[in-house]
Amino acid sequence: MNHTSFEGIGMTSRRTRDRLINRLREQGIENELVLNTVRDTPRHIFIDEALAHRAYEDTALPIGYNQTISQPYSVAKMTELLLAGGPLERVLEVGTGSGYQTAVLAQLVPYVYSVERIRPLQEKARKRLSLLKLRNAQLRHTDGGMGWPDKAPFDGILVTAAPEEVPPEFLVQLAVGGRLVIPVGGQSQQLKLIIKESEDSFTTEIIEGAKFVPLLSGTIR
Ligand code: SAH
Repeated sequence: MNHTSFEGIGMTSRRTRDRLINRLREQGIENELVLNTVRDTPRHIFIDEALAHRAYEDTALPIGYNQTISQPYSVAKMTELLLAGGPLERVLEVGTGSGYQTAVLAQLVPYVYSVERIRPLQEKARKRLSLLKLRNAQLRHTDGGMGWPDKAPFDGILVTAAPEEVPPEFLVQLAVGGRLVIPVGGQSQQLKLIIKESEDSFTTEIIEGAKFVPLLSGTIR
């Protein structure tokens, strides 16, 4: 990608980004493709200017409407889990938010579909993705608790907001062999990897504790 217009800004320096990548490595991220993609994705453009100087810290940051841009570690971990079974063709993301996770996915997967329930967030995300010339991500303003049935089946589904229970629609919309990466729970959440082994059998692996905003129903215009 060409980020000419951002060059020379201290926060985008190679060193600042390498520091983040080293931290992700220390926390166990191993997939070099994922690490390189996180390094090459300008996270500061997904955050309001007042907070942009913190873009390469490994922390979630507010993006308005009570929502947050995911922590780089979470983005790297979830993407790594999604890709661990081999390359994927079609991925659904639930919770576009800032569009940062969408941008990372769009550089690793040919077709990305992403749904967001808060329209103004979705519109900002759309502008950022187009600024980065990532044209293989389709966005939709909808309650993603139902997935995106028209575009199913998906080889992967990555959920960036936590439901209390796994919505059955996600399982239905997975292709056989497909992978669902999802935080589940209320106060205490667990990151889960669910693999669809056949039309009616699934394996679930609990990866670690998680802290995501809740998956809510309905939409906001
Ligand atoms: N991937 C985003 C994370 C944003 S936080 C990023 O990197 O910035 C999670 C997002 O999920 C929020 O924007 C929230 O509005 C959205 N969300 C919550 N419930 C949803 C639902 N039912 N359908 C679609 N989006 C939802």
